Amino acid sequence: MLETHWELRNKLLFGKKKEVLPTIYTEELCQYCGDKVKRTFYDGDYVYKTLLSCNKCSGTTMIVAVYGEYPPTKQKKMFQQDS
Ligand SMILES: [Zn+2]
Repeated sequence: MLETHWELRNKLLFGKKKEVLPTIYTEELCQYCGDKVKRTFYDGDYVYKTLLSCNKCSGTTMIVAVYGEYPPTKQKKMFQQDS
């Protein structure tokens, strides 16, 4: 198929692989019982932040890691409706 000038131009400008944003996860480690919980990132999370959210002992947890993970399936859920 013959491409028009504009189609080619659009391809060059916008034809990059659509970027799928990684899901950001936060890992909390309970300082009392050692329970480690991985959950989705909330606004304001940062490493070494302490929280009171252990599911097991209601103790103080500390964020030990914040990282992004790409979804395992490609080209699905390109548009997520996160609140
Ligand atoms: Zn705990």
